[in-house]
Amino acid sequence: MPTESKKIQSMQRADLHCHSNISDGVLEPADLARRASANGVELWALTDHDEVTGVAVARQVAQSLNLPFLAGVEISVTWAGRTLHVVGLGIDDAHPALLGGLAAIRQQRIDRAKGMGQRFSDLGYPGTYEGALRVAGNPGLISRTHFARHLVQTGQFSHMQAVFDQYLKDDGAAFVPTVWPTLEQALGWIHAASGVAVIAHPGRYLYTELQFDGLFTAFKDLGGQAIEVNTGSHNPGQFQTYGDVAKHYGFLASTGSDFHGPKESRCDLGEVPFLHQDLTPVWHAPAIEARLA
Ligand code: AMP
Ligand code: MN
Ligand code: MN
Ligand code: MN
Repeated sequence: MPTESKKIQSMQRADLHCHSNISDGVLEPADLARRASANGVELWALTDHDEVTGVAVARQVAQSLNLPFLAGVEISVTWAGRTLHVVGLGIDDAHPALLGGLAAIRQQRIDRAKGMGQRFSDLGYPGTYEGALRVAGNPGLISRTHFARHLVQTGQFSHMQAVFDQYLKDDGAAFVPTVWPTLEQALGWIHAASGVAVIAHPGRYLYTELQFDGLFTAFKDLGGQAIEVNTGSHNPGQFQTYGDVAKHYGFLASTGSDFHGPKESRCDLGEVPFLHQDLTPVWHAPAIEARLA
């Protein structure tokens, strides 16, 4: 085995899920790369929501820091009537099928955001759509996070969680539901772009036990290979639960902070506890090894 590949096999401090200001994170891709390196991350992926234009700079800065890097994306999917996030790792970030699919999701996001702006206006908070656009680092990718940030920055709410709890949660008064692409479409784009598909933070979805089994089975049937186990979006009990799920279904295990910003995230880059040694890390997938070779 070549030395570089051996090093990757044995490393533990991977962070394969985080956001820059190309989606709903706070920091620029270059600053995230420097922060990951400074925090001792040994393998890093940028996984912006439905957008890959941050990848080029992230890759360039990571390379300059000798930080092994994977291009990534976190795709919005609707499964069984709920939003599900699927991470693609080791993708070709120039693949036309992937780029076309993501562009369509971003248009859906803009339409949804205009609707949420209207609802906020009706609820007595005018100008929120315009405000959310102003705080977005990339006006082409608008997220609920930008609405919450705008309302906090303008002093209308004390913190972002309060905006979600009162108005933006999935049944909140300002929320506009959207039917995102299917699991099959998202995995189709990820696989076309030679990436590995990962179910993001399974502990966050309100599916029944039966639905979870249906989801994991359908995902596996479509060629999905991994689930997130140790993520900043799980509590330690869920590390155990989803580690068991990974073993039960034969999934590789992924890990990442889901870092959005220094003051907003539970977990900084590289800070998630290491995967348990009886799990097979997602960086052992042949498609990822090929990217890192
Ligand atoms: P969107 O993709 O536009 O539906 O927004 C989802 C994003 O909002 C997630 O990726 C999180 O960054 C953030 N988010 C979702 N739920 C909450 C919550 N309850 N509190 C704070 N942020 C949240
Ligand atoms: Mn987010
Ligand atoms: Mn997510
Ligand atoms: Mn995320």
